Amino acid sequence: MDPVNARFFPYSELKHTWRYDGSQWEFKVSDYLESAPEEVIDSLVWHLLSRASALRCPDGRASPYIEYVRSPELWREAGPKYLARAKTLSMEPMGKHRDLQTVFDYVNSTYFSGGLKAPALSWTSESPRRRLGYYFEQLDLLAVNRALDSESVPRYVLEFVMYHELLHHADRRGRSHRTVRHTKAFRERERAFSTYSEAEAWLRRIVAQARRKRG
Ligand SMILES: [Zn+2]
Repeated sequence: MDPVNARFFPYSELKHTWRYDGSQWEFKVSDYLESAPEEVIDSLVWHLLSRASALRCPDGRASPYIEYVRSPELWREAGPKYLARAKTLSMEPMGKHRDLQTVFDYVNSTYFSGGLKAPALSWTSESPRRRLGYYFEQLDLLAVNRALDSESVPRYVLEFVMYHELLHHADRRGRSHRTVRHTKAFRERERAFSTYSEAEAWLRRIVAQARRKRG
């Protein structure tokens, strides 16, 4: 490869970017990895150079990096920094119209026999085109899109998104890093939701609407 420059950069997400200007490469690496062990950085270099040059990363080379990114070790330190930078998160279950704590309690008692411990609940103001909710396992954080904090969206749509993310939350223990999140078994459990089809239809409509709004 041509010469490579690399530096850490304070992205709010854990992400890395690169650019090639015709004679050299410039990499910006998430500063959440600043204090990562040497073997992790070494592995990250394999991972990034493979991606940038569109070559297959040799077997196992990227594993220390991928494992580290999912490890509690990284997130103990990076977690507070991540939350401080995440401007899209409210870090507050009470929205303008809906309360995620109430929704959690209902879904937990209806579908999980009340057996789940509540994760941190937050609204996220990112575009519904990107995602309607997510569960961030390492931070035990469940975020739901603001688009669902509305009286014009039926409560069961919000409950369904909560249910989906709580399936991930319930799933998390003992998951190896290669496990696919939306397995066939996962999709079957998802369909146990009482108004599954109606909720899915609503979500598709919300995403389509957000796409149209964008032009
Ligand atoms: Zn999911």
